Amino acid sequence: MAVVLSSGMYETKAWGVVNQQDFINMCVEIETQLPPIALLEALQSIEQQTGRQKSYKWGPREIDLDILFYGAEVIDEELLKIPHPYAHLRRFVLEPLAEIAPELVHPLIGQTIKQLLVRL
Ligand code: ADP
Ligand code: MG
Repeated sequence: MAVVLSSGMYETKAWGVVNQQDFINMCVEIETQLPPIALLEALQSIEQQTGRQKSYKWGPREIDLDILFYGAEVIDEELLKIPHPYAHLRRFVLEPLAEIAPELVHPLIGQTIKQLLVRL
C-alpha cells in the first residue's frame, strides 16, 4: 500500500452526533494490489493497532479509516459499500477529496468531486 497523494487536514464539527469534540479529516489516494475486501481488512487492522476503542455510531474515535472510492468500482455488500454511501453528502469528505481528486467521477452519480462539492 503506497500513499500517492494526501490532502491537508481539516478540523470539522462533529456530524450526526453533535455533542462531542471536533474531528480531524483528511483524504489520501493510495495505490494497492489489495482487492477491496482485503483492503478493508488491512485498514481495520491499522485502526486496531492505532488503539481504536469501541464507540457508539458516529461517536468519538481515535481513528476511522474508510474507503471512499476504489477506482470506478461499485460494491454493495453488507460489509463493504463503495462508493462510501455518504461520501457525496459530506463536506468534510468532499473538501479534502477535492484537493487531491477534483476530477474523480462518482460512478453512481456521474459527477466529479468538484461538481459534487459546489452542489452540496
Ligand atoms: P463508520 O460508519 O463511522 O465509519 P465504522 O468505522 O465502525 O463506522 O464502520 C462500520 C462498518 O462499516 C465496518 O465494519 C465496515 O464493514 C463497514 N463499511 C461499509 N462500507 C465501508 C467503506 N466503504 N469503508 C469502510 N467501512 C465500510
Ligand atoms: Mg469507518
